[in-house]
Amino acid sequence: AEYLLPLFYLPFLQLVCPQGCLFFSLYIHPEIQQEARMTSKITSQSGVIFWFRRDLRLHDQPALTAAIQHAEQQSGWLLPVFIHDPAETAQTRWGFARMSERRRAWMASAADALAGELHERASGLLQYEGDTVATLLQLERALGNPLLVCEEIAAPEEQAEVEALRAAGVEVHTVWQSSLVAPADLPFEPRAVPDTFTTFRQALERAHVQAAQPLPPVVSLPALPPDALLNLVKPDSFSSEQRAEENIRDAAPAIPACVSDARAAFPTGPGRFTGGERSALQHLAQYCQRGLPHTYKTTRNGLMGMDYSSKWSPWLATGALSARQAWATIQAFETEHGANESTYWLWFELLWRDHFRWLHFKHGGRLYRAGGLGNAPAPSHYAENFARWCRGESGQPFIDAGMRELAATGYLSNRLRQNVASYLVHDLGCDWRAGAAWFEAQLLDYDVYSNQGNWLYLSGRGTDPRQGRRFNPDKQAQDYDADGRYRALWGPLP
Ligand code: FAD
Repeated sequence: AEYLLPLFYLPFLQLVCPQGCLFFSLYIHPEIQQEARMTSKITSQSGVIFWFRRDLRLHDQPALTAAIQHAEQQSGWLLPVFIHDPAETAQTRWGFARMSERRRAWMASAADALAGELHERASGLLQYEGDTVATLLQLERALGNPLLVCEEIAAPEEQAEVEALRAAGVEVHTVWQSSLVAPADLPFEPRAVPDTFTTFRQALERAHVQAAQPLPPVVSLPALPPDALLNLVKPDSFSSEQRAEENIRDAAPAIPACVSDARAAFPTGPGRFTGGERSALQHLAQYCQRGLPHTYKTTRNGLMGMDYSSKWSPWLATGALSARQAWATIQAFETEHGANESTYWLWFELLWRDHFRWLHFKHGGRLYRAGGLGNAPAPSHYAENFARWCRGESGQPFIDAGMRELAATGYLSNRLRQNVASYLVHDLGCDWRAGAAWFEAQLLDYDVYSNQGNWLYLSGRGTDPRQGRRFNPDKQAQDYDADGRYRALWGPLP
């Protein structure tokens, strides 16, 4: 009976047919259950579920590599899984969906590309739509409680998922892998990271810390679970020929691709950038072929077009690109074409990304308090101001242009991100957490660490030694958009 699926889990396990967008609830024929119970007894310890989270790639994948080694040591199977959790699109307390359709489509495109890569390696990706913990628990029970391996995400909600699984008896092995520099290579414990970025960076540079080389791409994977087990976790309406032909990736939700606005600095959709690692690595290669790393420092404050900054972030966010892979490619570029201040500055920016990760190790949930790290009183909030800011109708043309670009494309330059965040908090008197939530919904490159850290920093409740900085939007517009082209590009519709 321990392998039977408790009925109350059933509504959570639904698979979506791509052709007709039909939902299937799992039905398990008693004979299959019986067969699986017997198979489970034999194979329960020899299988591994690999749960893809924000690491949708096969290159530089220490967590997946560990899972493969574990399965191979036991001559066992490996089941790759990705979960589309409806909680990610639920309403926020600020009155909008937590994840925009655009970001959802970007994630789905990354997951589908990963499924294709796995399929080419005679494996596959089982995609579910359901509550993350409940779905994984159901899988665990159906498959005889195998080891679950996944990347570690050091943010409260993501940690709570792993804790809930462990509390329910699942053996979960997590592997940290999203930073440029490995925790063991830091000159201090991650929990003792200096709060100030400059102190952090200088400590690393004094200690001559380097990023480790990325791991080579995974070329082969252990087999999927035997059919008797796989049938337990797949809709029985698919015949085994169909499944072999369509591969289990076809159980993904049908989420239409989002074609971005023609003015986008990060254009997405068919024939443009797509979510998978192939698209990411192609972009990285052409970024170097065109010599752009040599001019990054002088162009990085640009506002328009694809070339002023690296545009790695949307792939880094889903894990389709690893930070170590990006940096190793820049190092190879330096070897061939020479290093300069601009190539160094890409390292510098990736260290910002790392710093926000280590701050999570150190401060955890305190980064999510209204008052942040200090004892500041709860922020004020004016819902009407916030709504106008979101719509790009605050009346400040530079800010409004930025907010329209964000809503139309899911991407915004760093310069504009700083300006619109400062304006919301310091000029419109709104709660920084509402702004962070809007960015979370809109940004294709939403990254829990970087978003929380940057918002807290700009609100003056985080790790900015100056305790928050107000950007003067008129002066910023004069400095970075003197001819008004950016404001004209994203001006109000006539
Ligand atoms: P580049 O300028 O080419 O930089 C290269 C890489 O360095 C980036 O891809 C990114 O990984 C890293 N990086 C650069 N600047 C920062 C920074 N300030 N903080 C952390 N990492 C940085 N970045 C995200 O990836 N996800 C977010 O959710 C996010 N939210 C932000 C919210 C606010 C309020 C602000 C001010 C910044 C935010 N950033 C976020 C940081 C930064 O704006 C983006 O990383 C950058 O604009 C992405 O474009 P790019 O890849 O072309 O960056």
